[in-house]
Amino acid sequence: MAFHVMLIPTLNCPAKCSYCWSSEKGSPLMSIETIKEVVEWLKNFRDEPVTFTFHGGEPLLAGADFYREALPLLADGLSHMKPAFALQTNLWMMTPELARILAKYNIPIGSSLDGPRELTDLQRGKGYFEKTMKGSEIARSNGLKVSFICTFTSHSVKFKEDIFNFFLENGITLKLHPALPSIRDENPEKWALSPEEYGELLVYLLDKYIENIGKIEIMNIDHLCKCVFTSRGTVCTFVDCMGDTFAVGPDGNIYPCYRFIGMPEYVMGNVKDHPGMEDLARSDAWKLMFQYKEYVDRECKDCRYIKFCRGGCPYNAIAPNKGEIRSVDPHCIAYKRIFKEITDRWENEFFGSSALPMFMLPDQPGKEAKPGIMSLMMKRLSSMD
Ligand code: SF4
Ligand code: SF4
Repeated sequence: MAFHVMLIPTLNCPAKCSYCWSSEKGSPLMSIETIKEVVEWLKNFRDEPVTFTFHGGEPLLAGADFYREALPLLADGLSHMKPAFALQTNLWMMTPELARILAKYNIPIGSSLDGPRELTDLQRGKGYFEKTMKGSEIARSNGLKVSFICTFTSHSVKFKEDIFNFFLENGITLKLHPALPSIRDENPEKWALSPEEYGELLVYLLDKYIENIGKIEIMNIDHLCKCVFTSRGTVCTFVDCMGDTFAVGPDGNIYPCYRFIGMPEYVMGNVKDHPGMEDLARSDAWKLMFQYKEYVDRECKDCRYIKFCRGGCPYNAIAPNKGEIRSVDPHCIAYKRIFKEITDRWENEFFGSSALPMFMLPDQPGKEAKPGIMSLMMKRLSSMD
């Protein structure tokens, strides 16, 4: 099975997004020595393919020289693990030089836009939209593929139609993200999207997706449908991520996920010690993650969605409770809502009186099938890996 290593070259970031919970001014930069230690650490760690995601803070702050050296070190030093790469950035610091280095390794770029310019700048700071679009242009013109995450907050959710139309009209794939409580902030819930609002939003987007079938891609809805359809999770939130996801901070410390970076109580080891799986398994953070898995097995055992939900994200469940496992991911309410909606609609189409149209793809000629969940699933699943 493939596993995932997130590399966090720094927690520093030049942007000042209102709801950010993961940046830290003055955070150091990862040295190339640490990348060399990552290679040594992973050489005999596992035999499976590995995906590296550069994340932050803002990973492009590490600069062109860092990537010029780091990428061949990882790609060649670990070639037996067939490394794949991804990078999550606000794109402000993208230069043609950096774009060419990243393009050599076919690195898909994930960036962030919260919708139209006014809304993005309101939530992420004046000038954000322009700088990100400019960086995106540089990336694309050098052959990089760019997609965007749209963070919905308690404020922006009121403009969900404008946001959807922005992505639709600009032909941009939509991947949504609910703003999380910022546990480093004095007022952690200010921007956070409540689980109820998140659930409503997912159902709204499901309807809009079906209404505009073939004109836009909404990645979350695709994944949620695929979960229901195949009965297994397809993104980290809906699988047992523990033991298969690791994150390395600027100082080489290893954590269970980038979301825990900078929180000393979640350090599992350091790359310079080249820990094996059994060494990491002795850390408190590892044990806590696996205790969460057992908790989900008990707590969610009667839930009909457990196979492809797996209790959601352990960070969401554990971190706001200061490391105590008191409940599953609070987004459970949203997950139940959307999983029920997809399952019910699918069953209705399947067993309902209008059983015939469900098997038709929307572009089948001569028939008047109203697109539904089945059309969406078939259309999307056929184009997904
Ligand atoms: S802790 Fe949450 S975000 Fe991190 S890998 Fe696990 S499910 Fe994904
Ligand atoms: S929907 Fe809620 S109860 Fe069901 S598996 Fe997910 S977290 Fe557990």
